[in-house]
Parts: sequence; structure tokens; C-alpha cells
Amino acid sequence: MRLERVRLARRALLAASVASAIALVGCGGKGGGKTSATTVAASASAAPAATPPCDAEHRLTPEQTEGPYFKPNSPERASLLEPGMAGTRLTIAGTVLSTACKPVAGALLDFWQADDQGDYDNAGQRLRGRQVTDADGRYKIETIVPGLYAGRTRHIHVNVQVPGRPVLTTQLYFAGEPANETDGIFSAALAMDVQQEGGGKVAGFDFVLDLGR
Ligand code: FE
Repeated sequence: MRLERVRLARRALLAASVASAIALVGCGGKGGGKTSATTVAASASAAPAATPPCDAEHRLTPEQTEGPYFKPNSPERASLLEPGMAGTRLTIAGTVLSTACKPVAGALLDFWQADDQGDYDNAGQRLRGRQVTDADGRYKIETIVPGLYAGRTRHIHVNVQVPGRPVLTTQLYFAGEPANETDGIFSAALAMDVQQEGGGKVAGFDFVLDLGR
């Protein structure tokens, strides 16, 4: 599957970046950090080790409002899919990085989102889940494309926390979504480049946190 190739490509790029971390341009500053799974794969095959994964495009991930629907104690799981769940399947994968462009292992990502109809499960934990980045700072979540609800464009909420550091609360968006133009909270820096993959969609996003290192 293409996602597996993307993961391998990212692993190779990360290995290259660690080896040459000192030579890399810092990725601090304002703005957002996003990545495209397709772009990453293409870069890896065209010019191995020539394109660092953390560069001027990988800037500090902006904070966003948490909104009213966060619930604590979400279950630890990489897939939010449940039998019979409606909606277009969506896989998002990426890496948590420090502003020094180093992958962050053990970072907690807590996702929550609306269902296909734009409704949140405020009684239970449907479409809510947390996971921890692996040794290479990577995460991958399987879910559905969230529906729209009044006043908001399509989005997925996420809290990212590195142990001992403040929580980064933010939201992920869908590039090209018409409602992005009318949503005052929307940030282009947080818009994922979403691609069609078989019957579902895939996207990539790297979070960049200021860890003081
Ligand atoms: Fe929301």
C-alpha cells in the first residue's frame, strides 16, 4: 500500500535528517508545519537524502481554540473506526518534531472530531482517541472525514503533549474545503493536503512544538 511506502520514505528521510541535523536550517518561527504524504514519497524517490524533512515549511504549529467538545480520558487507539460507522475513511500520518527538527518520541496526541453528520459524541468516546508517537516520533490515525456543523469548516481537533511541557491545542483542516473561506478560526497553516487513496483519503501532517531544544 502507498501508506506503507510513505512510512518507509519518511523513515529514510528521518534517518538522513538525524545524520545531518546540525546542517539543517532551523524550523522555528511563526506559521504552521504541514506535510503531504504524496510529496514526501515523491521527494524520497527523486533525490534521496537531498530534501530534509524539516525546513522552512516546518514551522511552529499554531495553537487553536479547544472548542466546547473536548472530553478527557479518551481511549488509547490508533483507529477511531467502528463497525457500521458512516463516512469516508481517512488516514492521517506524520511526525511530531521539535523546533530543532528532531523527532519527538513519546508525545501524546489526543484526537476528537465530529461524525459524518457533524455531530460530536458528548455522552461517550466515539471518534475520540489518543496515541503516543513511536521511537521515530511518528503517529498514524485512522478515522473518517468529519462532517460540517454550523459556523465551522471541516476540521479535526487535537491536543499534542510532550511529557513535562504545555499542551499544544490545535485543529487540522482540509485544503480546498469551500467553508475554509468563511470560517474565522481556519488557518491555512493547518490545512492538510488530502489525497484520494482507493475508496478513502490519506493526508500527512507534521506537528512542530517549541520544546526549548
Ligand atoms: Fe469542532
